[in-house]
Amino acid sequence: MKTIVKKINEENMEAGCLQEAVSILQRKGLVAIPTETVYGLGGDALDAEASKKIYEAKGRPSDNPLIVHIAEVDSLGELTKEVPEKAYKLAEAFWPGPLTMIMQKSDNVPYGTTGGLNTVAIRMPSNKIALELIRESGVYIAAPSANTSGRPSPTKAEHVIEDLSGKIDMIIDGGAVGIGLESTIVDLTGEVPMILRPGFITKQMLEDVIGQVEVDKAIIAKSVDPSLKPKAPGMKYKHYAPKAELTIVEGAEQAVVDKINACAKQKMEAGYQVGVIATDETFARYEASIVKTIGSRYDEEQIARGLYAILREFDEQQVDVIYSEGFAESNLGQAIMNRLLKAAGYHVIEV
Ligand code: AMP
Ligand code: MG
Repeated sequence: MKTIVKKINEENMEAGCLQEAVSILQRKGLVAIPTETVYGLGGDALDAEASKKIYEAKGRPSDNPLIVHIAEVDSLGELTKEVPEKAYKLAEAFWPGPLTMIMQKSDNVPYGTTGGLNTVAIRMPSNKIALELIRESGVYIAAPSANTSGRPSPTKAEHVIEDLSGKIDMIIDGGAVGIGLESTIVDLTGEVPMILRPGFITKQMLEDVIGQVEVDKAIIAKSVDPSLKPKAPGMKYKHYAPKAELTIVEGAEQAVVDKINACAKQKMEAGYQVGVIATDETFARYEASIVKTIGSRYDEEQIARGLYAILREFDEQQVDVIYSEGFAESNLGQAIMNRLLKAAGYHVIEV
């Protein structure tokens, strides 16, 4: 299949620029779209065949449900059995934006989209291209991250091209995304709302709007605990991972630098190419084959935006092992460490 790649400027969209993407979605094809979190691989959420194509293109396990993207809050009625009051409050506060809500699904949503579950995950993205595409096509867009399953999520169209070129109908290149980590997922089907995946919208931000919110214990665990099964099926896989073996080193700043340098030296002497994910504060103190800074350790938004791209760059440069500093787990830091730990397969050295 030849994949069409089309550049569209979110801030300056020409009339009719989405026409081709609209017709692909309407005839149940797949279009990769920019969103403010990461690029999504979109298809008609109410069509089981389109969903099946999404799983195939990504190589995604079929029990890992898709997020349905909408452009109007009113659409919740068609997609869910009932809309909890808290959903309206959260929508009012955070939509369009990086928050996904889980509710009981209606019969309109095929099990092929929800991975066999009776619940459905719904989000209203803020990216103008994504919103306009949903509106113009009249299609609710099921869109998981537009990467090959298991690889770091795509934050630029180039990443999508790398993974999915030849496998999908079209890729819309809307430039680099703003946030760089997947949406926060909150499950509203239980007594107390529960965060199943941390993201840009933090627990505190949710609690300010709807009161008490819990966090799925499995996602804050520092190691794989077999007794804790993540409630979001997708969170149980090793995920977001580069091809190189990634290790996180945590502790006091200079101790971390010393440990990473010692490990890197040993690996390089054994003939391996070693990459280091450093911060602006520590960058100059490392000695390894390739050292990259992810930005200041005090700028969580910059770290989030750059994380997946840096992992992919190391893959391109074919390093064998990567060491990364750990990051503080306040606010957005919890989501950053959640993704980094999964990318590392929970391989952490404490110093
Ligand atoms: P992605 O779109 O690739 O970021 O992945 C979607 C995430 O949402 C995965 O971790 C899924 O397991 C999770 N998810 C989607 N629908 C549901 C649902 N109904 N219940 C729990 N988790 C869900
Ligand atoms: Mg994903």
